[in-house]
Amino acid sequence: MSGFVTKPEPVAVPGLIHTHTGKVRDLYTDGDGNLVMVASNRISAFDWVLDPEIPEKGRILTALSLWWFDLLSDLYPNHVLSAEPPAGAPADWAGRTLVCRRLDMVPVECVARGYLAGSGLAEYRETRTVCGVTLPEGLVDGSELPAPIFTPATKAAVGEHDENVTYEQVAAQVGAELAANLRQATLAVYSRARDIARDRGIILADTKFEFGLDGSGGLVLADEVLTPDSSRFWPADLWEPGHAQPSFDKQYVRDWLASSESGWDRSADTPPPVLPDAVVERTHAKYAEAYERLTGRRWS
Ligand code: ATP
Ligand code: MG
Repeated sequence: MSGFVTKPEPVAVPGLIHTHTGKVRDLYTDGDGNLVMVASNRISAFDWVLDPEIPEKGRILTALSLWWFDLLSDLYPNHVLSAEPPAGAPADWAGRTLVCRRLDMVPVECVARGYLAGSGLAEYRETRTVCGVTLPEGLVDGSELPAPIFTPATKAAVGEHDENVTYEQVAAQVGAELAANLRQATLAVYSRARDIARDRGIILADTKFEFGLDGSGGLVLADEVLTPDSSRFWPADLWEPGHAQPSFDKQYVRDWLASSESGWDRSADTPPPVLPDAVVERTHAKYAEAYERLTGRRWS
């Protein structure tokens, strides 16, 4: 079982039409047909959207995403039109709302990996490949790869797993030319971001981008970019291949849910328990620290 522990309700804003409730973001369409993307404070783990929310998470991730979009804009254009909430929006939308160009989204999760972890590690252990890419022998949890690789996945609905696919499957789905462009764009943006993060003492182990096509078929970076929800960030000074790495994301939440302390049986048909205050606070601190270390700015 999976889904929302508590199903969120869209907010009624005059002039906006609610179109989608994602695990983390709520989407609306404004009077010009643009996409209004509101990042909530919701957090998901093990395909569940948990209770309670993480304070400020929507604002932290939106600020980080904007910071990256700006730094990457010479490589690829992005979908952001404005970070100003539409007139009539609730005051608490400030800082977590992006008005974006509505794009024809490419239905591929464009993942780049520079290090081995997560589903990449699991696949490597079984087949020594990740998404059809053959890797050298002897790599372990957290190993750096000889070069970054493109490891696409299909987009799944709320409650379902994304599934890793091969480059050939992407080419069959979207065409050879677009597949090649996606791979090139994903690796180029990853490499730039990896170098920026490295200068700030953070390893960008892997990340997921979503691209859309503009009216003339050009690739545009969409969704959110390079946040702790879409990326694995590891403190570089603590990097030690051979075991799970400390990270600036929701690993802390996952670990708590999986521990005996939570009392939750993932395989049973029950929603996960409410997160204790200490776990919520620690998770908030991790997100704020990721923002501060990457941008060099104080969070609050
Ligand atoms: P999850 O990410 O938790 O699996 P989700 O992808 O359904 O869930 P969110 O990520 O919360 O939902 O919401 C963002 C949605 O908006 C995604 O479906 C994404 O593909 C889509 N999207 C992002 N940017 C654009 C854009 N410029 N034009 C159209 N759709 C977009
Ligand atoms: Mg998403």
